Amino acid sequence: MSNALSPAQRLTQLINTINEYNYQYYVQDNPSVPDAEYDRLMRELLDIEKAHPDLRSPDSPSQKVGGAALSAFEQVEHEVPMLSLDNAFDEDDMFAFEKRIKDRLKITSEISFSCEPKLDGLAVSILYEDGKLVRAATRGDGRVGENITTNVRTIANVPLSLRGEDFPQRLEVRGEVIMTRAGFDILNEAQIKKGKKPFVNPRNAAAGSLRQLDPKITAARPLLFYSYSLGLVENEQQPLGTTHSARLKQLSDWGLPLSKELEVAQGAKECLTYFHKIGELRSQLSYDIDGVVFKVDDIAMQQTLGFVARAPRWAIAHKFAAQEEMSTLLDVEFQVGRTGAITPVARLAPTFVGGVTVSNATLHNQDEINRLGIKIGDSVIIRRAGDVIPQIVAIVADKRPDDAKDILFPESCPVCSSAVEKLEGEAVARCTGGLYCKAQRKEAMKHFASRKALDIDGLGDKLIEQLVDADMVKSPADFFALDIAPLSSMERMGEKSAVNLVNSLEKSKKTTLAKFLYSLGIREVGEATAQNLALHFLTLDAIEQADLEALQAVSDVGIIVAQHVVNFFKEEHNLEVISALQEAGVHWPKIEKVAVDELPLAGQVYVLTGTLNVMDRNQAKAKLQSLGAKVSGSVSAKTDCLVAGEKAGSKLTKAQDLGVKVMNEDEMLAMFAELDG
Ligand code: NAD
Repeated sequence: MSNALSPAQRLTQLINTINEYNYQYYVQDNPSVPDAEYDRLMRELLDIEKAHPDLRSPDSPSQKVGGAALSAFEQVEHEVPMLSLDNAFDEDDMFAFEKRIKDRLKITSEISFSCEPKLDGLAVSILYEDGKLVRAATRGDGRVGENITTNVRTIANVPLSLRGEDFPQRLEVRGEVIMTRAGFDILNEAQIKKGKKPFVNPRNAAAGSLRQLDPKITAARPLLFYSYSLGLVENEQQPLGTTHSARLKQLSDWGLPLSKELEVAQGAKECLTYFHKIGELRSQLSYDIDGVVFKVDDIAMQQTLGFVARAPRWAIAHKFAAQEEMSTLLDVEFQVGRTGAITPVARLAPTFVGGVTVSNATLHNQDEINRLGIKIGDSVIIRRAGDVIPQIVAIVADKRPDDAKDILFPESCPVCSSAVEKLEGEAVARCTGGLYCKAQRKEAMKHFASRKALDIDGLGDKLIEQLVDADMVKSPADFFALDIAPLSSMERMGEKSAVNLVNSLEKSKKTTLAKFLYSLGIREVGEATAQNLALHFLTLDAIEQADLEALQAVSDVGIIVAQHVVNFFKEEHNLEVISALQEAGVHWPKIEKVAVDELPLAGQVYVLTGTLNVMDRNQAKAKLQSLGAKVSGSVSAKTDCLVAGEKAGSKLTKAQDLGVKVMNEDEMLAMFAELDG
């Protein structure tokens, strides 16, 4: 599109678009495109201006910082301008940055850099006079910001008075106000419940929360502040440090919060090591960062280097690969799951985001489609952070094509044509076909054969799909009637694998009541619930006979689970499947009755947190419950023991604060071995 335009025309187009995006982002706190798209346009603008310096005008967005202050707020003039940062997107940019500095300073020795995470929030200036917080302001356009003093005073970790006595009489601290990801999720859940529009990401939520005319709203939002530099300083009581890092340390001594990840590196090479280290840490941090910032540490050098129009020459922001990108919704397919749930799956134009190419994302259900207001053909913002599955966070309304199509939820199952039902109060639509539906049957069979269920070695997903498609397996009992000859003729199967499979089918017949129950795929009955049901009722007959009340006496079983269990055993065809399985030889040892209060961990409350390596959480939970413990989701004074796996976070801190006993995974496994022995 841009090829047909002259550089001057394209530049005008870019200036208009970028100005509009700046307004949405800085003034309305409501950007319509991801940062990556904005950054691409800005780079294109910079390239044109570099190639045609005569076209650069003083009001180009390349010469300006941020956006104008909102007139609803009182204005604050920054005595020392608040600038932006230049960007580096790759290693070459970093080496070029180092070279520019060395050339300007005419030095060849290694330069020390202060290395800091680039917090993805909103820049704020806080002024202390005689140690008291007297004013706080946004960056605005760098010269004039908005007075947000009452709002900033509500942020939990912003000190209203400085500690000690040796701080300057006037001290302006600069830093970023951010929202943690956990706080963001809670806030958005509440927004959706209230029928309000959720925020696209924590940055916009933080900015929107801070620029509120009502400080009570700000106070209710989970905001945090981290300092990263000093602005105005007058009448210091003691000399300020001669390096940036020493000055940050002084801020910390006066009670101001700093990021934990600060370091000093020698030269661009070490800076890059820091960049990669923080990149690894990124998904584990409790807040979003979009890169790291490197600043020449020596203040005298900073002063010699000075500034260009919108950024200091002595600092650079090295950005990480974007976690939000633009894509196009090409189509929506409807997948049918094991319990008949019909999930709309977005087919996207393949897009590189968060380190991988994404071409699918779940749209969850009709409510989500309505919430997004999405149509086929729309440009969408997709987000993939860490290992989290990709999400569509918003559409780009302005870019909707004229031929965008509504997403029509199927009225009958796309696989078996059975009716689709949506129960009152449930967001999910379901195919009513049960095992008649091949999609449900395939998933039910995969579940039956899976490791935590009957654990049938050699019966993989692909083979199950073929067996169902060929109508060789209609119910799980049919697996046990499979012969070597027809199995050998299946795709990618030889006689040897067929023999092995028949042997492992034979072996799988010996199971436990808990695994058998789990294998039936009763809705909401996971591994731990199956284990609890087995231990409580001891026999399958007793579970089949149990009514709602009896079922709810089992730990972890509430009315919904109880209802699903009762419904399952009411269905004649489910009972037929169970009989057929037992006739095929599936069996389990009798469970001896042990009085619950005689179990070794009876009466104790355990909580699991962090990543476990040997067992997964559900297995550990089931095991603890089988030993009599109650497993709770949150740490309180009633908790007897916290099992903390790797990367344990706030629960571990809370347990330590409350003096609750903590064990790691190895200690838990040793305890199991001892109790089992
Ligand atoms: P920036 O975010 O690239 O860098 C400057 C800012 O970084 C500072 O003002 C400060 O707020 C922040 N920062 C975080 N940690 C810091 C640290 N340790 N030290 C110093 N500063 C730190 O620059 P900008 O001018 O605020 O914004 C430009 C960026 O904003 C663009 O690159 C784009 O990603 C985004 N943007 C997006 C849109 C959109 O429509 N999506 C529009 C405008 C801007």
